[in-house]
Amino acid sequence: MNDYYATLGLSRDASEADIKKAYRKLARELHPDVAGPDGEERFKEVAAAYEVLGNADKKAQYDRGVDPRGGHAGAQGGPQGFGFEDIFEQFFGGGSPFGGQQRGPASRTQRGGDTLVQTAVTLKEAVFGVSREVQVDLADVCSTCHGSCCAPGTQPQQCRQCNGQGVVQRMARSLLGNVMTTSPCPACGGYGTTIPSPCGDCSGQGRTHSRHTIKVDIPAGVETGTRIRLAGRGDAGVAGGQKGDLYVEIREKRDEVFERRGDDLHCTLEVPMTAAALGATMMVDTFDGEQPVEVRPGTHAGSSVKLKGLGVGRLQRAGRGDLIVQLDVHTPTDITDEQAELLRQLAALRGEEMPEANLAPVGGGVFHRLRDAFKGR
Ligand SMILES: [Zn+2]
Ligand SMILES: [Zn+2]
Repeated sequence: MNDYYATLGLSRDASEADIKKAYRKLARELHPDVAGPDGEERFKEVAAAYEVLGNADKKAQYDRGVDPRGGHAGAQGGPQGFGFEDIFEQFFGGGSPFGGQQRGPASRTQRGGDTLVQTAVTLKEAVFGVSREVQVDLADVCSTCHGSCCAPGTQPQQCRQCNGQGVVQRMARSLLGNVMTTSPCPACGGYGTTIPSPCGDCSGQGRTHSRHTIKVDIPAGVETGTRIRLAGRGDAGVAGGQKGDLYVEIREKRDEVFERRGDDLHCTLEVPMTAAALGATMMVDTFDGEQPVEVRPGTHAGSSVKLKGLGVGRLQRAGRGDLIVQLDVHTPTDITDEQAELLRQLAALRGEEMPEANLAPVGGGVFHRLRDAFKGR
């Protein structure tokens, strides 16, 4: 009869815990990944020994002097028993022993997350671009444990429940026979290691969070919804993982004076009635400082002047849009008696005391002139 106790290096009075411990130790040493194919025969002996001694009923039978395996050292287990393959799979996973697929423990290393931060820009900043500092909460590598998650001077330990495999397997019986189900080890979360003394400064997370001030170069031409990507400026990775990206999303504030339409800017200039009639050069305060706007003599309300290249910078292209100045002829409402007298004299000179009611022809009214101005005619 085989001496199963000797196979496991135990004496006859070994406890259940001793048997289990000895078996696991030998199984690890004789694992084909460690011992190579040379360990196979020895492993089969060890597995057979544990098949008997690891089972209370079979052990009792064996201790009474009867080998439950029938004395065949390499037997593959009884018809309703827990066979050699089952035991092997219980500890190492995979389909067939020696050459089966090995499932390794999961890596703790993870890429840091992407972070989105919003910032508002004025229209002027959108026109020219701006350098901006944004405040954002980001994960950093813990400066105490340097991302290891372990308190200084300690190390991760191999998980005792899964022996570092990261997975646990359970035997289920089905019509087709024994089926192994594999699931991540609940004790270590599938990592194969546990952290007995987590770092106190990061609660064992390997990262801490803090407020960062980050400089962003916002190019000309951005608008609400534009996202600027700062590669590698997001959250620190976990356990040495790569950093995530930081995205800065733009919100464009409304301007009181200028309205943006694509790359063009629009504004409305009030032209005094006299200037509209006589013509004038009016200085307009634009984003590019004071600029002259030529009001031609006889300017109608609704006409416009285009200031080329004073619009919004084109995003990722050269050049700028235009500034379109709409002219609004301002009729005075606060005239003095003297001014009223002069206007009456002017009206008399022009024969307009009783103005003729001339209806503008279709296509000639203010609306059409306005439309034509937009078309650039
Ligand atoms: Zn730490
Ligand atoms: Zn585990």
